[in-house]
Amino acid sequence: MKADAGRTYRAYPTGGQDRILTGWGHTARALWNVALEQRVYLWKQRRHSLRSAEQCRQLTVARGDLDWIEDFPAQAGQQILRQLDRSYDNFWNPAHSARFPARKKRGDRLSIPFPGQAVEVRKLNRRWGEVRLPKLGWLRFRLSRAVGGMIRNATVSRDGRGWHISFGVHTGRKPDAPNGKPPCGVDFGVAASAYVSTETEPRLTPPTLTANEKRRLKHLEQKKARQLTYAKKHQGGKYGRRLRTTIAQIAKLTARRAARRRDFTHKLTTDLAKSHGLIGIEDLRVKNMSKSAKGSVEAPGKNVRAKAGLNRSILDNTPGERRRQLEYKTHAYGSVLVAVPPFHTSRTCARCGRVDPDSRKGCGRLFACAHCGHEDDADHNASMEIEARARRTGGSDINSTRSAPEARVPADGRRRMREAPKPVRTS
Ligand SMILES: [Zn+2]
Repeated sequence: MKADAGRTYRAYPTGGQDRILTGWGHTARALWNVALEQRVYLWKQRRHSLRSAEQCRQLTVARGDLDWIEDFPAQAGQQILRQLDRSYDNFWNPAHSARFPARKKRGDRLSIPFPGQAVEVRKLNRRWGEVRLPKLGWLRFRLSRAVGGMIRNATVSRDGRGWHISFGVHTGRKPDAPNGKPPCGVDFGVAASAYVSTETEPRLTPPTLTANEKRRLKHLEQKKARQLTYAKKHQGGKYGRRLRTTIAQIAKLTARRAARRRDFTHKLTTDLAKSHGLIGIEDLRVKNMSKSAKGSVEAPGKNVRAKAGLNRSILDNTPGERRRQLEYKTHAYGSVLVAVPPFHTSRTCARCGRVDPDSRKGCGRLFACAHCGHEDDADHNASMEIEARARRTGGSDINSTRSAPEARVPADGRRRMREAPKPVRTS
């Protein structure tokens, strides 16, 4: 029984538990790094690939000798080594985009994983639950939704806002029957976060921080820079209490921003999956799109600044995460996701199907076909083209040959409603 759903709750440790969990979080990171180092070293020296079974045995021995690992729960240690196995497997899997397992840094979020057998959950009342963790006791959490299944694993983590407990749950939920809703194409973009072909307005990411929060964040960043300079000058670079406070305050704001973005993404993908029977998206390689423009010493890249800004907005809009969510949500809600080849979607006329860079004069938002005169918002035109491509493949064969341009006008007449030229937006 594999976990097929995730649940995350805010956890509220007592003061003592907070100290223990913080210590464990650092131990967990150190253990990951040491285990990774050991695997890399053994492979380089003896061409031996170390797996978790062997490392778990060594861990048991090491627990007697090393005091920093002695009070760390054994199940958590073994879970970390199994996760390292998974990282290696993903890296070796050609169908998976994972890179080589990375070292964890001190600034990364603390997290301590447990196998499902090691934890026990009970409900206190309508609002609160408790989870029992090995060597820690009962940890209270805010029961914001029912767990609804068998717990396969549990992870305690801490970000800028505080502690969380997440469970991998086996719900055994069957996917819905095909929902029979209309098809659509979605163009995930930079200016508008998503343009759906059946809609006349783009879906914009709401501002994730209020004006006040933005101002405060800027102020805190400046304060941090000042305190860093001070620390370098007078304390040999050692972080003082005030600097740590500032860093924690910044972390809290950025964690809040990330949570709001996540919330928007989830609502968007759930809505798309529930209200459409077929969803076409572009088969983009996010990694390539956001690759740095820096270049090398011999051949420095162009537009480094501009590209950095573009990267930020692409990553803010998280197309990779949206696709991941759409994949499982379409499956759950009786819809089909089709990733279509992304070539020239922004230069192809959705009405006559001709590809012409002249149809996209300048970098404006207007698409004006150089052949049939079709005018539309460029992103909406792209979403129509994505929908057309997705319909042609029908969810089965992504690389099917293109049909003749005449056959590509959908019969529902929806296109005609959008023929009036729209004013050019410059942003
Ligand atoms: Zn045209």
